[in-house]
Amino acid sequence: MKANIHSLESFGTVDGPGIRFVIFLQGCPLRCVYCHNPDTWDKKGEGKYQLSPEELLAEVMKYKNFIAKGGVTVTGGEPLMQAAFVKEFFMLCKENGIHTALDTSGAIFNQTVKEVLDIVDLVLLDIKSIDQMQYRELTGVKIDNTLKCLNYLEEKNIRAWIRHVVMPGWTDNDILLNRLADFLKPYKCIEKVELLPYHKMGVNKYEQMGMDYRPGDLPALSEERLLNAKDIFKKAGLKV
Ligand code: SF4
Repeated sequence: MKANIHSLESFGTVDGPGIRFVIFLQGCPLRCVYCHNPDTWDKKGEGKYQLSPEELLAEVMKYKNFIAKGGVTVTGGEPLMQAAFVKEFFMLCKENGIHTALDTSGAIFNQTVKEVLDIVDLVLLDIKSIDQMQYRELTGVKIDNTLKCLNYLEEKNIRAWIRHVVMPGWTDNDILLNRLADFLKPYKCIEKVELLPYHKMGVNKYEQMGMDYRPGDLPALSEERLLNAKDIFKKAGLKV
């Protein structure tokens, strides 16, 4: 079994706790309007590496001392498009005492996915919008599987960090932010919520790929609006 890997980053600091070896898998069924990695969308697209779980682990082990207090994070794209591979790889990580995190939209939910969730140490679950219709407009898919994933994390008491991009004109809306905060509040599996400000890095990829960038000239989220969003979640008793 070989994964189609878009790229590897040996010293990641933004995808989970500590310094992490980050694996970006190729393929995503979503089409988020703000996506900054459209080059990961095509599952059959030309990733930089084609590696088996054992080969990928050998790469990770080169950095074992650096990531001792961190671990590995598998992201994408949507890593659960290659769930069987992720499961094998995480099993090897566990055998070698390496902390595992999965960054996912939760858009794929099946038996293999459950088996991945059962062994991973931490799930970074991206909830793109709490409003069903907006979720679909924003991503091109339904929210249903993401909510099933969150409920599974709760049922099995699997540690979760929720990620949410706050985007002007879309999710930067006090009513929606309050709705999301109120919705998340009862979940005991959620350790914290990471509110990510919409930014414009990576937009040049669209030009290079000859594609339209749908948000056009939409400005990045202001510091003030990010603080506003954080306040809403804090007031609901959630850690941000
Ligand atoms: S889930 Fe991530 S990789 Fe996929 S379209 Fe959305 S932002 Fe891009």
